[in-house]
Formats: sequence, C-alpha cells, structure tokens
Amino acid sequence: MPTPNRQPDWTQCPECGSEFFQEALFRQYSSSPRGLYRADEAAPPGRVKICLCGYLLPVDGSHPLPPSLQESIDRAQRFRRNNRPDKILAHLERFFVTGTQFQTVVDRLNQLLDIFQKPPADAPVPR
Ligand SMILES: [Zn+2]
Repeated sequence: MPTPNRQPDWTQCPECGSEFFQEALFRQYSSSPRGLYRADEAAPPGRVKICLCGYLLPVDGSHPLPPSLQESIDRAQRFRRNNRPDKILAHLERFFVTGTQFQTVVDRLNQLLDIFQKPPADAPVPR
C-alpha cells in the first residue's frame, strides 16, 4: 500500500522547532554592461520565511517557489548543513588531539625515557 503524501508542517521549523519566522522577498540580480547590479524586474520575487536559526521555508507550501529560487535555497540549506558547528568540530577532531590524549602520550614518553635512562639492575657495569 503506498504511503500517503504528507504535507510538511510549515508552521514549525524542521531544524530547530521554532514557530517564529521573518518573511522576506528575494529577487534575482544580474549585472549590466556598465557593471551595475540590478534586480531582475521581469522575474517575480520569491517570498520565503526565515527561521530564527536561519533555516528557509516557503511561505505557503501550496505555492511552489520559482525554480531558480528553490535551487538557491537548496544550495543555502546544503551549505548550512555542511557548516554546522558540530560538523566543523568533527572535521577538526581528525587533525587535533584532546588535552587528555596529549597528556597520555606525554606520560608514555616519560615512561620510555625512564626506561632508557635507568639500566636494569642485572645489567653488566661498563669498565
Ligand atoms: Zn529554525
């Protein structure tokens, strides 16, 4: 039996659960031959809800966004997901050690130094 197509709950942010948003109009800009940047007046602006956490949602789920705006939103969401503090920390943890790990290595090196500096009791005495 096919699963019914459930409409997402657009009243709550899927990322953080917030129910408060700012509505914003987004326009696509292009540059003129003189180097000026202008909003494309031919294309209608896209209305989007921005959550307190930065997540972007459509204002009304029944009205699809212009494809170019939806692609930009998808890219922005991917960027946010890939640059979350927990992901950045997980990436950096591959290159650094914690203070505890560092101290463990220092303790082991000191133990090795003790072994090399103290000959065993039954070692022959050099003449
Ligand atoms: Zn949110």
